Amino acid sequence: MMPSYPTGTEAADAIVDVGRLLYEKNLIVATEGNLSIRIAPNRILTTPSGRCKGRLRPWDLITVTNDGGKVGGRGNASSEILLHLSLYRERPEVGAVAHAHPPTATGFAVAGVPLADCVLPEVILTVGSVPLTPYGTPSTDELPERVLPTARKHDAFLLKNHGAVTLGKDLWQAFHRMEMVESFAKIVFTAQSLGRVQALEPADVQKLLQLENGPEPPRGGCGNCSVCTRCSNKKTSPGKGTAVGEVIDRIAGR
Ligand SMILES: [Zn+2]
Repeated sequence: MMPSYPTGTEAADAIVDVGRLLYEKNLIVATEGNLSIRIAPNRILTTPSGRCKGRLRPWDLITVTNDGGKVGGRGNASSEILLHLSLYRERPEVGAVAHAHPPTATGFAVAGVPLADCVLPEVILTVGSVPLTPYGTPSTDELPERVLPTARKHDAFLLKNHGAVTLGKDLWQAFHRMEMVESFAKIVFTAQSLGRVQALEPADVQKLLQLENGPEPPRGGCGNCSVCTRCSNKKTSPGKGTAVGEVIDRIAGR
């Protein structure tokens, strides 16, 4: 399903708000991290490079085409724009991408340990398993090349020795997935320090995924249960608002 496009104002406000939250929640520090939203079939709104994402204003944002050509905003687009663009190409239904360096989850990425155990119902239903992608040099073509095979099957994944990426139908969903990845990492780390991580029984995972009123499950499903159809290890398997919003709408061709 194709995403529905937010207005320029909605998209700019979401990036500013999510950037501030990522920063305040210590999921990024200094000038780390980048965010983007698909605002039209050939337009992506993204964060500028080299700026603190906790203190952005709508007029700081950059608009690029699907090929990365800049069509609006001052300064340069995010240094990871190649990664974002390749994710949008690969996943037409995705409307937003978030990249951050949540410290505990990134610790797992540095240790080379994916977050793949089916241990928490909420995580299975919102994020699924969080695999680890091979290391690629940030801001180069190498990173998307190594990430895409995983990104086709997952809405959240770790970048080896780097950080985490989450995808969503909109930026709030991508942000909530990022929060969930870090919380998941903290809980698994706590359980490991207590000496054991007890996974849910496959039958319980199965029941969870069949909940009638449950949320729409993430693409990644659970990790190691081998019962989930989305299991990574399974063998088969802008309206009117601020002037900035109007400018972004114009750039998007509305
Ligand atoms: Zn990064």
